[in-house]
Amino acid sequence: MANDKKMVEAITSMEDDFAQWYTDVVKKADLVSYSSVKGCTIFKPAGYAIWENIQKELDARFKETGVENVYMPMFIPESLLQKEKDHVEGFAPEVAWVTHGGLNKLQERMCVRPTSETLFCDFYKDDIQSYRDLPKVYNQWCSVVRWEKETRPFLRSREFLWQEGHTAHATAEEAEERTVQMLNLYADFCEEVLAIPVVRGQKTEKEKFAGAKATYTIEALMHDGKALQSGTSHNFGDGFAKAFDIQYTDKNNKLQYVHQTSWGMTTRLIGAVIMVHGDNSGLVLPPRIAPTQVMVVPIMQNKEGVLDRAKALQEELAKVCRVKIDDSDKKPGYKYAEQEMRGIPLRVEIGPKDIEAGQCVVVRRDNGEKQIVKLDEIAGLIPQLLEAVQKNLFEKAKAHRDAHIYDAHDYMEFKNIVEEKPGFIRGMWCGEQACEDKIKEDTTATSRCMPFKDQEKISDVCVCCGKPAKKLIYWGKAY
Ligand SMILES: [Zn+2]
Repeated sequence: MANDKKMVEAITSMEDDFAQWYTDVVKKADLVSYSSVKGCTIFKPAGYAIWENIQKELDARFKETGVENVYMPMFIPESLLQKEKDHVEGFAPEVAWVTHGGLNKLQERMCVRPTSETLFCDFYKDDIQSYRDLPKVYNQWCSVVRWEKETRPFLRSREFLWQEGHTAHATAEEAEERTVQMLNLYADFCEEVLAIPVVRGQKTEKEKFAGAKATYTIEALMHDGKALQSGTSHNFGDGFAKAFDIQYTDKNNKLQYVHQTSWGMTTRLIGAVIMVHGDNSGLVLPPRIAPTQVMVVPIMQNKEGVLDRAKALQEELAKVCRVKIDDSDKKPGYKYAEQEMRGIPLRVEIGPKDIEAGQCVVVRRDNGEKQIVKLDEIAGLIPQLLEAVQKNLFEKAKAHRDAHIYDAHDYMEFKNIVEEKPGFIRGMWCGEQACEDKIKEDTTATSRCMPFKDQEKISDVCVCCGKPAKKLIYWGKAY
């Protein structure tokens, strides 16, 4: 039993040091390994499988809305990146450059894509001629590189995996519709699949994407009260189209610029899942993305008949869920601790006495609840239990989020909340960037979004400067 203790002791309590707890879980749950490439992590099978499930689910949802997948080159010539002024200014500080091909210096250096707007624009310029070529609703799954100074597994790394959608439309209305549609798709995905409640809203001018007319975002609250931007959708209007000369002839044979959008979600989502649902025993995975939903653990597996019965049970359950059996020679207590650490939603224990009684024991990861279930009823019950875990995780996360939203009416109150109560702060804003800058400098909190819903007036004046207020903002410290 010494081993079980070692495993549990190995993670720092989240109340003591949340950042260390996160690092411990990521390592102990076997999700990643640090590589010798600075700022980049290795996704181990348990970590990559979560991404694969996220990918599968998102991709299916994209395709239901008409999205088609493509693949672009990973290099962008400097001249192409320079074409849209705001865009290049936004990304220049963090791009990595390729200067040599083999032994020869390149005539023009190329960056490793930090995002692919410019490549899609360059492609659309030739591929779109007439209104019949529109809309283009493309997406690519790939990795991008941003030379971050400080990195953390899943949350910030120099190379990360993501999807980036890039669309071109005939009208401004269509582009706006697509921008909102994708944001809502992201929000539904977070809530329904990752069991993470989100606030949907718009970024301020200061926080919007480089080159965008408007950026919409979903913001989630982590267990420690910090916000995590979990997905963004941008409306570019015809700004990029003008910079790249993407025109089409409309039905009246007149030349028009296209209207574009882009939207993305990344492996950060795995970090969000860890920080929203995890506890002091480790990771807690929502069943819909858990690579293994049920683990069968034979007890006294050396006794005749136990392993066979446990394997038969695994086979039966494989028809209704993603199930594995842990028939290693580790002690049951160690196996339990390990599966808890890895966040497997349900554990099914079966030993000689259970077999005799025609039953097994099911244990939930989310609340530790144990129940004895008849073996001939277990296959029918597992899907219901998985649904119950999924629902409970969302409700728990929502209750936690809602209990950590505070209203601030003046600057003193605002600063006190930032200091003492981690969470979202709702506060009115005058619309001036100077106030956002001041708040960030004084408190490190940033404007997360102007929520679409609940745009109520909690006060008449800006929480920072006291001038007449224009918008309600969710503020918070963020990852
Ligand atoms: Zn103000």
